[in-house]
Amino acid sequence: MKILVLNAGSSSLKYRLFSNREEAAGGVVERIGEPEGVKDHMEALKIAEREILSSGIVKRFGDLDGVGHRVVHGGERFSRAALIDSSVLEALKELVSLAPLHNRANIEGIETMKKLAPGVAQVAVFDTAFHQSLSEEAFLYAVPIEIYREFGVRRYGFHGTSHLYVAKEAAKLLGAPLKELNIITLHLGNGASACAIEGGRSVDTSMGFTPLEGLVMGTRCGDLDPHIPLFLQEKGLDAAKILNSESGLKGLCGRNDMREVERMAQEGDEKAILALKIFVRRVKKYIGAYNAILGRVDALVFTAGIGENSPLVRSLCCEGLEGLGFVLDEERNRNLRSVVSSHESSVKILVIQTDEELDIALQTEALLREDRL
Ligand code: AMP
Repeated sequence: MKILVLNAGSSSLKYRLFSNREEAAGGVVERIGEPEGVKDHMEALKIAEREILSSGIVKRFGDLDGVGHRVVHGGERFSRAALIDSSVLEALKELVSLAPLHNRANIEGIETMKKLAPGVAQVAVFDTAFHQSLSEEAFLYAVPIEIYREFGVRRYGFHGTSHLYVAKEAAKLLGAPLKELNIITLHLGNGASACAIEGGRSVDTSMGFTPLEGLVMGTRCGDLDPHIPLFLQEKGLDAAKILNSESGLKGLCGRNDMREVERMAQEGDEKAILALKIFVRRVKKYIGAYNAILGRVDALVFTAGIGENSPLVRSLCCEGLEGLGFVLDEERNRNLRSVVSSHESSVKILVIQTDEELDIALQTEALLREDRL
């Protein structure tokens, strides 16, 4: 099947074309809506179209079997991917209030594609869907229950496609059915989240009502005392901007790129050393918490930009966890092996490359086949 995967953000459009599950073309159009940049998603998709057609796999968008869209927020309505029809599109519009920036851009991507290739099936794959298996005790916050009922304030969790993808890959690597495994997955990229997966189902995750909760990220603060934003607002500051865009590693040491943070730390920069320590401490807290939630952990998976590429972060995250059964083999860790735990480790520690777009293509393909039956 020929599947185009689109990840439409507010200022960028990422695209990848898969032909029989192999990548055939791909790229990113940036600076959408900026004065010197690309006008809108229509113009961005036309740029992408030229690149895609030049691959020779399709002569026109109409030849595609389907388009898979990464959609950030599926609320409580979507616990799996959905074939997009007018009722799904309507539901996505209703969900805009939960993720204004992201979902609006995703809808724009869908509507633009519909104009360019009206007959091609489109599928929405949600970042939140995998976490819809969370129980009430995991997804409810301890606030008046009416706030959940009226406004949908609850833990949704994000990065679901990535957590599930690497969990499935971990099961393959371990040669065991996913159903029989308990896994902690750590998606450590510019955005970062942890997930506790029991028998293939997400049972807890660190991101919450929005992607702001949980781990320390490139520019997001992660967990903090919930009164802090109120206090900042009282001081006349823009709490949303500070906590989303000026916090995390960037807020602590001026850089949001972990490579630079590591370089600065190695040169003795005290702010960078502290930022790294705070980042790692938060990850360790979640490993401990999910260890307690799962009771038994078979595998710990590191993925995304930092998780896949930073032996230092992996090493620091596992330091002191030997008593809990997490024992890293430093040599394997440095040499970027997929299994980086030592033989005496009761938990397999794995490094697995995430591929959200490939998984979106696979989910799109599966749904289209189901639909044709
Ligand atoms: P992602 O959001 O998954 O693309 O990940 C981006 C993050 O991965 C950035 O903070 C990068 O600095 C980080 N990253 C990429 N390569 C490395 C590396 N070799 N060492 C440390 N961090 C890295």
